[in-house]
Amino acid sequence: MARENTTPDLLIREPVTPVADPRQPVTPPASGTLREENPFDAMLARYGQAARLLDLEVGIDRILRHPEKEIIVAVPVEMDDGDIQVFTGYRVIHSTARGPGKGGIRYDAGVSLDEVKALAAWMTWKCAVVDLPFGGAKGGVLCDPFTLSLREKERLTRRYTAGIIHTLGPDSDVPAPDVNTNEQVMAWIMDTYSMHARQPETAVVTGKPVAMGGSLGRREATGRGVAISAGEAMSYVGMPMRGATVAVQGFGNVGSTAAQLLARDGCRVVAIGDKTGAIHDERGVDVDDAIAWVRTHGTLEGYPKGDAITNDELLTLEVDLLVPAALENVITSRNASRIRAKVICEGANGPTTAAADAILESKGIFVVPDILANAGGVTVSYFEWVQNRAAWYWTESQVNERLTEVMRRSFADVLRLATQHGVTMRTAAYMLAVGRVATAHRLRGVYA
Ligand code: GLU
Repeated sequence: MARENTTPDLLIREPVTPVADPRQPVTPPASGTLREENPFDAMLARYGQAARLLDLEVGIDRILRHPEKEIIVAVPVEMDDGDIQVFTGYRVIHSTARGPGKGGIRYDAGVSLDEVKALAAWMTWKCAVVDLPFGGAKGGVLCDPFTLSLREKERLTRRYTAGIIHTLGPDSDVPAPDVNTNEQVMAWIMDTYSMHARQPETAVVTGKPVAMGGSLGRREATGRGVAISAGEAMSYVGMPMRGATVAVQGFGNVGSTAAQLLARDGCRVVAIGDKTGAIHDERGVDVDDAIAWVRTHGTLEGYPKGDAITNDELLTLEVDLLVPAALENVITSRNASRIRAKVICEGANGPTTAAADAILESKGIFVVPDILANAGGVTVSYFEWVQNRAAWYWTESQVNERLTEVMRRSFADVLRLATQHGVTMRTAAYMLAVGRVATAHRLRGVYA
């Protein structure tokens, strides 16, 4: 059952952490003060490093460390048995410097304000890395979506949407699917918003069903972007895709699509896993067959082919490519020294902690960071938003061609910066993103 909500009905916090010393140096908190598995700290650690390398001015640094807006709402829901439960919903807008807030909404038992803040900031950096005219936002509802009926999920979605409706809008804040949300949830958000706006507003969310304004190719876009980025990385390190061994952790929309496309490109997917456990088969897992199993059974649990292994064993397999595609904090200081993959391509947001970064770097592992590797989803969200506004729809091959172009160009931009500065792909991606957002702030100035 969901946890009781203790927050007031609506709390909009305009976060103002007072800065005592105006000459505060542009440095992240001293090491040791960062909590390794706190996602917002993990984001700040990487951001701080990029800000320092860019020699970012103190004022802009202060702005970028603080989300523009944090909304917490109580979400009362009448359950099917007549009982009223109250869930906690969050929406955080980290930045609108480059355009409307953009980012998904997740329904999960691990949702917290710090997680949503980190995810919102990661959206800012992600949109900037691939140069979309969006800022960054994220939302979440603390719940166990697997215990909710379809109708309970609909009521929860509509009430949460009503709670955050003042921030939403095609020109202000545009949600999308994330962990445990899908096209149907987006359709309910679009409908609730449109009823309040008294006109249909397809562009208020992306990742909608194709039958009501969604874009062809959006559902597969994040996984497709991961497969494209992995391909670029493998070609850079001189590893042929044909026959390359791959382990994929997470078998939801992102992991399963990435595994399927990598297998089509000739890779041998030797391990896949989800929250129920993992499967290992050196001869190669039949990805399409595993997807069909999950479609009928909900999870990989009980999948009869291959050897059952743990997720920790999957992460430390000796493979050419590892794709973490589930949640945060799976590669940490506890297991990073045991990782044996040559390339890591991050399908999830925040799968690697900042402490693990240094360990992976010392082992010479080539990491394509989340804010680049999984940007395919929001890129096609942008295409969807453009199609909605133009009321002019593209073919699936147009979508995929343009996505490939954006992913390849962005990979090359980040790689160029990494080589120039002698830094990792992650640091270079943050430098590119933070630099672009900082430029927008300089040009806009500070409204008074
Ligand atoms: N939830 C996805 C992400 O983390 C997509 C966000 C979007 O399309 O707005 O990138």
